[in-house]
Amino acid sequence: MQFALPTLGAQIVVYPMDAPPISGGVRIENLAINTAIGSATGLVWATIRHSSKTKGALQGAAGGALMSAGRQIAATAFNGSGFLGREISATGISLAATAGEPKTTLSLPIGPLSLECGDDNFDWRLNVVDFVAIVGLSLSPNTRLDLHKSLSSGAAVFRDRHESFGQRGDFDIMAISEFGTVRLSRSAFEPFTGKTNVLYHENVHVLQDDYFQRAIALPAERQVIQHLPFGRQFLRHLDLGVAGPMLEGAMSPIPYESRPWEREAYALTANLKY
Ligand SMILES: [Zn+2]
Repeated sequence: MQFALPTLGAQIVVYPMDAPPISGGVRIENLAINTAIGSATGLVWATIRHSSKTKGALQGAAGGALMSAGRQIAATAFNGSGFLGREISATGISLAATAGEPKTTLSLPIGPLSLECGDDNFDWRLNVVDFVAIVGLSLSPNTRLDLHKSLSSGAAVFRDRHESFGQRGDFDIMAISEFGTVRLSRSAFEPFTGKTNVLYHENVHVLQDDYFQRAIALPAERQVIQHLPFGRQFLRHLDLGVAGPMLEGAMSPIPYESRPWEREAYALTANLKY
């Protein structure tokens, strides 16, 4: 919501300080949908691993509830919300994606790295495509890393020198989230306050992508890579990370307003103006 006060020859836009809070109904609906998604994920993984379907569905449901909690936190405008929300969500994703395995390994993302924490072991993995994207954007003359926003979001956030990334209908495309990064154009910043509320919308996309990558795309990709020469050695610490972006690209014909991931990101940030 905004109020426009007409003045001589110019407009002053006043942003209200207090935005209405998000209704409990939206939060409960988000919890229900993600719990259902988590439960279905756990059921499928338990079935693939020839383990108890009921236990898999329950473990996945608990994971889905944590995914929702993480997304709701990441969508809230406070310092560090994206980082906190991402790790909580990742805990939930780990539960859903490891359903049917004898032990749960927590996979916690730190930028393109993920720390793998088991009962008595600790390991790491690197997503090659995400890493290359971060190096490329760091070297590009058009973008520079915003360290403060990156730490706050739990993902690499870059400022782009362009005014916007193009138009979608009557609106500027202010920000882009892909390859585990967020890019903010100049139009992502409110002209007077310097606020970047669209970042919380992008935070939600980062967490959605975490789910899609870790629960679906990366396991599928590993199945292919392990049969290639040196595939197993490659997979010891690395993931290629091309399957996720390719599958996401295949969904781009879905109209923007109908994309479930956009509806979720807008619903969870409905109290933020951007
Ligand atoms: Zn979006």
